[in-house]
Amino acid sequence: MKLILLGPPGAGKGTQAAQLVERFAIPQVSTGDMLRAAVREQTPMGLKAKEFMDKGALVTDEVVIGIVRERLQQSDCGPGFILDGFPRTVPQADALKATLSELGKNLDAVVSLQVETDALVERLVGRRSCRSCGRGFHVNFDPPAKAGICDSCGAELFQRDDDQEVTIRNRMEVYHQQTAPLEDYYRQAGLLKTVDGMAPIAEVQQQVLGILQAL
Ligand code: AMP
Repeated sequence: MKLILLGPPGAGKGTQAAQLVERFAIPQVSTGDMLRAAVREQTPMGLKAKEFMDKGALVTDEVVIGIVRERLQQSDCGPGFILDGFPRTVPQADALKATLSELGKNLDAVVSLQVETDALVERLVGRRSCRSCGRGFHVNFDPPAKAGICDSCGAELFQRDDDQEVTIRNRMEVYHQQTAPLEDYYRQAGLLKTVDGMAPIAEVQQQVLGILQAL
């Protein structure tokens, strides 16, 4: 299964991808996670990427295309993958097409999670993640038993630097200008499937599974 999860920041791409990973045992390829790892490791690419990420801007196409190309060639992506947060621009979508064709592969579907802007901002402002196991929480909708502590592993929870309201507004703007055109791009390619991302997490997952089963 070769799948793209498309949608604005906070639409639930990471949450849905994590559940699909468990069910189908194929990797989630999240450019945001890969970039944050590079920032943590303070690689030259990570230090450069951080300047864009802190502002809520997109990292250059060249950099993200490079990391995705490399990642998709790894053997665990052989049986399939779930792209989360990539592509985000038309040149990235074109580069993905070229890479997959070199690898002799085709996308199966592009699932677009539809969520209203106010709900996205509310989700992102309250989002917290575990520093150790990466589990996600929300201060109102899915709070941990003990504030600031992960229920699964007891490690500290943190808020992403780019989940501050001003940065979130920038990220939304960037999404509408640069990423939303990909809906038409993939509709024209006959790959786009839309899902109501306002529904509860389990219902969204059922909708996604329904789409995958129908393929
Ligand atoms: P995410 O975790 O997907 O919300 O990504 C966090 C940040 O990483 C974004 O706001 C961008 O600065 C950067 N980023 C992630 N994926 C991409 C991409 N495909 N193209 C450009 N920048 C990206």
